[in-house]
Amino acid sequence: MERAGNSKADKKKVKKVHVRTGDVVLVLKGKDRGKRGKVLRVIPKEGRVVVEGVNIVKRHTKPSRKVMQGGIIEKEAPIASSKVMLVCPRCQEPSRMGRRRLENEGVVRVCKKCGEVIDK
Ligand SMILES: [Zn+2]
Repeated sequence: MERAGNSKADKKKVKKVHVRTGDVVLVLKGKDRGKRGKVLRVIPKEGRVVVEGVNIVKRHTKPSRKVMQGGIIEKEAPIASSKVMLVCPRCQEPSRMGRRRLENEGVVRVCKKCGEVIDK
């Protein structure tokens, strides 16, 4: 049983997102299941990521000063980071990542399938 008033759990609502901007991920759930795309944005506060070409929503916009022409704009909407899996840039497989400490580079991410370091 969890005791009430666990300050660590209460205060830190920021979820740890396992992917970073620029990573290629595979979508596991939802209408874009099976798609691969690059991570454009990570929103740690919500535990969400924006992936290129994934979860496209249509926005009906009115013309404004910013957007001269109104109409329908297609834009990526954020999806939960738990719905994506990191694709290893070396073996092209959706893989789990481990961490390894290197003397010169600090902690790096390592593909659990091929064992390659995936951080540059
Ligand atoms: Zn790999």
